[in-house]
Amino acid sequence: MKKTLVACLLSVSMVFSVSSLAFAEETTEAETTETAETETTEAAETDDSKTTGYLTDCFDPDGPILLEGAMEMETSYMMNALENAEESYVGPFYCVSGTYKDFPVVVLRTEQGEANAAASTALAIEKFHPCAVINQGTSGGHDPELHTGDIVIGKTTEAGNAWKSTPSAEGEGVDYKAIEMQGVYSYDASAGEFTQKTSYPCDESLLKAAQEVKDTYTDGQIVEGVISTSDEWNNQADRMLFLHELTGSSCEEMESNIAAQICTSYGIPFIAIRILSNTGLHDEEFDPGTGEDCQKYVLNVAEKYMTSK
Ligand code: SAH
Repeated sequence: MKKTLVACLLSVSMVFSVSSLAFAEETTEAETTETAETETTEAAETDDSKTTGYLTDCFDPDGPILLEGAMEMETSYMMNALENAEESYVGPFYCVSGTYKDFPVVVLRTEQGEANAAASTALAIEKFHPCAVINQGTSGGHDPELHTGDIVIGKTTEAGNAWKSTPSAEGEGVDYKAIEMQGVYSYDASAGEFTQKTSYPCDESLLKAAQEVKDTYTDGQIVEGVISTSDEWNNQADRMLFLHELTGSSCEEMESNIAAQICTSYGIPFIAIRILSNTGLHDEEFDPGTGEDCQKYVLNVAEKYMTSK
């Protein structure tokens, strides 16, 4: 693992040295190194295309499907189901690659939370060049109709914590409802820039695959809905119900929309599928067994997608 980390740091520093070299070439007329450095900084600041020019084309239609989960209890069933399994790391994140029913699969443990989901998804995309990504695992209910064991197919994912509040003066108190959702930025290849989106739609072919194997899941209902992502764990019923009303969110968790954001930047088909492991709306506490139930369904979705594409 140490070696992988060193390799990562080395490649990052190589990218920076190569880019500095490229800029340095443009400034060969500069009289001193100091001047060259100043011009390099100015060039980087004024030319926005430089910030996206390094985006590698990682989408491979014949590549593996990348299945993500944050914790051991959300990934081990899928990892154990692989044949020809090979363990590896992307940065500090553990992966197992292999085959499932003869099609190529990588299972990635993203670890918990937004930053880990972003870093691990980008590193795995760079390494494995997937044909599609499914982020799956546990979640907490926002929709009062849903209970532990129900599965939400994410027709969209949303950044539950990307909002702007209405200004108020000192002493006026804090109104948690006075917010407007802002969204988060992903690279839009057709526009050639990062654009802000409040909602990330899933890929239609992945959705179709998920719909077609709905009947394989019998431990609860399966609904299509909105998955709300933030580093928060909400327990107050009024707040959960408010978020449900504001964004239509079915459930909350800490990774899906981040993976959606990164996959959008890379142009890779994406869907999130989350099982309710708890819901504060019905006093149902975290049930770790739901992690395995979700993985079983997701393997069926992956099989359907890989065999029908
Ligand atoms: N470590 C916790 C269990 C995991 S919680 C404990 O000791 O109780 C955080 C993880 O579970 C995240 O990866 C998140 O995606 C998911 N999760 C499950 N229910 C959640 C909820 N109600 N709110 C936020 N994240 C939730």
